[in-house]
Amino acid sequence: MSRTGRREAGTDRQLLTLVGLIVVLATGALIVAIASLSRTPPASVRDVGTFATLVFMITLGGVVKASVRIRSTTHSIAWVETAVVIGLAIAPASWVVLSTMLGVAAASAILRLPTIKSAFGVGKNVLIAGGTAALASVLEWPGASPSLSHLIGTLAIVYLAAALLDDLLAMPVIALASGTRILRQFRSDLDLRLAGFGVRFVVAACTVLILRADPRLLLAVPPLVLSLHLAYSTRIRTRTEQQAWQRLARATDALNVVDLDQVLTTAVTGAAELFSADEVEIELRDGGRTVRGGAAGVAYDGTAPQPSETDGRIVPVLLEGHDRTENTGELRLRFAGPVELSEREQYTLRTFASALCTAVRNAQAYAELARIADDHAYAATHDALTGLSNRRHLLDEGTAQLTTRHAEGVTALVLIDLNHFKEVNDTLGHGAGDQVLIQVAGRLRDAARPGDLVARLGGDEFAVLLRGLPAPAVAAHRAESLLAALHDPLDLDGMRISVEASGGIAAAPATGGMPELLRRADVAMYQAKRAGQRTATYAATRDTADLNRLTLGGELPRAVADHEFTVNFQPIVDLGSGQVTGAEALARWHHPTHGLIDPLRFLEAVERSGLLPAFAEAILDQALIAAGSWHDAGFDLPVSVNVSPRSLLDARFPGAVLARLRAHDIPPDRLVLELTETLTLSQLDVVDRVLSRLRDSGVRLALDDFGTGYSSLSLLSRIPVHELKIDRSFVTAMETAPEAAAVIRSTLDLGRSLDLTVVAEGVESEPHRRALWELGCTAGQGHLFARPLPAGALLAALQRGAGGRPGALARPLHDAGAVIRLPGRRAGGARNRPTPPAATDARHP
Ligand code: C2E
Ligand code: CA
Ligand code: CA
Repeated sequence: MSRTGRREAGTDRQLLTLVGLIVVLATGALIVAIASLSRTPPASVRDVGTFATLVFMITLGGVVKASVRIRSTTHSIAWVETAVVIGLAIAPASWVVLSTMLGVAAASAILRLPTIKSAFGVGKNVLIAGGTAALASVLEWPGASPSLSHLIGTLAIVYLAAALLDDLLAMPVIALASGTRILRQFRSDLDLRLAGFGVRFVVAACTVLILRADPRLLLAVPPLVLSLHLAYSTRIRTRTEQQAWQRLARATDALNVVDLDQVLTTAVTGAAELFSADEVEIELRDGGRTVRGGAAGVAYDGTAPQPSETDGRIVPVLLEGHDRTENTGELRLRFAGPVELSEREQYTLRTFASALCTAVRNAQAYAELARIADDHAYAATHDALTGLSNRRHLLDEGTAQLTTRHAEGVTALVLIDLNHFKEVNDTLGHGAGDQVLIQVAGRLRDAARPGDLVARLGGDEFAVLLRGLPAPAVAAHRAESLLAALHDPLDLDGMRISVEASGGIAAAPATGGMPELLRRADVAMYQAKRAGQRTATYAATRDTADLNRLTLGGELPRAVADHEFTVNFQPIVDLGSGQVTGAEALARWHHPTHGLIDPLRFLEAVERSGLLPAFAEAILDQALIAAGSWHDAGFDLPVSVNVSPRSLLDARFPGAVLARLRAHDIPPDRLVLELTETLTLSQLDVVDRVLSRLRDSGVRLALDDFGTGYSSLSLLSRIPVHELKIDRSFVTAMETAPEAAAVIRSTLDLGRSLDLTVVAEGVESEPHRRALWELGCTAGQGHLFARPLPAGALLAALQRGAGGRPGALARPLHDAGAVIRLPGRRAGGARNRPTPPAATDARHP
């Protein structure tokens, strides 16, 4: 037996005891009445008539009543006590008690009340009649009242006693049956009950007065009572009705929310109150979600409800709209006891159910809309392939971060670009390409810290927004660890693929917002790529932005036309002897207003402008003119000219170069073209053809910035070059980083085995020079020997010489005649740049 069941049984027992007690007491009163009846039996026909009238009056008073239902109990306000009081005015007390018993029993039979209710009704009213009669006889009422006011005053006391007795006997039973507290029961609808009490008292008083005046007027009493009763019960009904409609309106209004949980909670508590139900259950059709609870709130919410603990009557209603087409579930009201809903309540229930149906449908539709909106918002801000944020989201988030007034720490952006992604795509297919992007995205996401925003900007370009950094310098460390995450090869269905990436770092600018931050990171990335470094941090001094603007303003064509591009030459020196063995041409822009602009700031603009051929030709011209002038002065030095990767895509490039050589009467082997490899270029046939043609014509080729590219060797394997230039970064780092020294050593080994000249860049000090020499490197260039100089200045330096030796820019490492320990296989000098005689006549006729 459940706990509730036990409680119910307990209540039932108490109820029975209470009713039994009342019945026993009433029986006592009846016995007393019957005993006294023998003293004053109805003797005449008139007496019998009076007795019958009494019974009839009480029956009527019991049948005609206003009913109010609270939970499963219906409470009635009846006229019985009025009839009893009137009866006391016209008949002996014993008659009244007896006729009450008969009248109430008759009324119960007419109303077909259950036995227990009948027993209770009869018992209670007999006790009221007995009690009232006892009081009346004590007060000697009606007797021969001396005055009208005395008559009415005493009547009031008697009537009050009757009414109080009624409440006193009824309240505990009702409270027990309905489970409410007696006091609360007493207070409920007190105003209506008092008004009813007043009306009934007035009726009783009037009747008594009429009887006094002329008993025949008693005939007028029933119509009066009936009309008063009608007015009163209409009032009660209107009041309850009004309250019910107001409550329904409030309850359905409360359902007017978009959150389904809230709709269900409101519906459960609202229905429990509205229908005075002990428990309310709502079961939704979609998903079978069931919510159960009472006026206090929801007690269960889930899809697998246990059978309810409340037993009793269940009133179910489908949740369907007014059109009855679609039902969203079922609403069930549970009442602890037997209950019959009035027509109005049934209508209210249907209205409530229909309002709930609409609210549930609205909430479901709203949730669906919200989900769709979320999906859209997600799709609009995320990259479909990798699931990372997209460019737009990055811009939005970044802008929010930059415009937050009290944002903590420094904001920075790392732009990451994969270096040979196109190759993966071209050779392994787009599926593999997608795999690479997805895995790279995953690695970046894992490497990012909480608070970082990882985005894919498109293609093979990623970006990480770093927020709340303690200092701008930290950005570089974070960028390094992000790129380090890409270091281990990716696993593509068992195939291992290495990706290399370049990263550009920029800290939030003071102005320009996110677009400027992105642009700066982009500039930095371009620098990283150019310099062959893994990462580079944005530096305003190397920013080409203003020059890009100049380019747009049409400055570049003028610069070419007006010969604003000039060339400086940096000598290449034999590290052992200090003799100059060549010179590299380095472009400069003498801008009329911006002054001298160095190449990293304008090359990109030139390459993109379409003026590259004109620019390249202007530089080549100046380089060949300089070489001719040095030759004429007795220094036969080959000149090295840097070639943009883009020039190698131009099939006319070799023809142009050879034409310039002829025009300046310079033998092709006096020209060295320095190439920087980019993977895309090395993939293209046209590059192969261009380079082969130049090489076949006798032009010498050098691989610039060697060691920085991830696959410098791939070009080398197809286009044999003559020279390798060790990137400056290795020379700078060789003293401190063993890896740098190792790269230099292996480059030198490679040079020896392929019979290539190896030139070290960025030789800034004697220790650099000595260390390189000892590793077996024979040629170098750098600030130690000379900065890039105009052609004439270099010639003057050559003529001045060092230590009295024209053509030398440094003292030899070892004095002539000293025993020299030759490093490595350097002795096989043929492979290295030969030291040309101070003055030769190697120039072709
Ligand atoms: P690069 O070919 O690697 O040129 C060497 C750069 O290192 C030059 O910078 C030079 O001034 C600098 N340098 C030389 N010795 C030292 C040294 O001891 N210490 C340091 N810190 N730097 C040294 P520059 O002239 O600014 O040229 C930068 C880059 O611009 C060049 O790098 C080259 O890639 C490109 N470039 C220069 N001229 C031309 C040109 O006419 N055409 C093309 N396509 N590119 C050019
Ligand atoms: Ca170069
Ligand atoms: Ca270089």
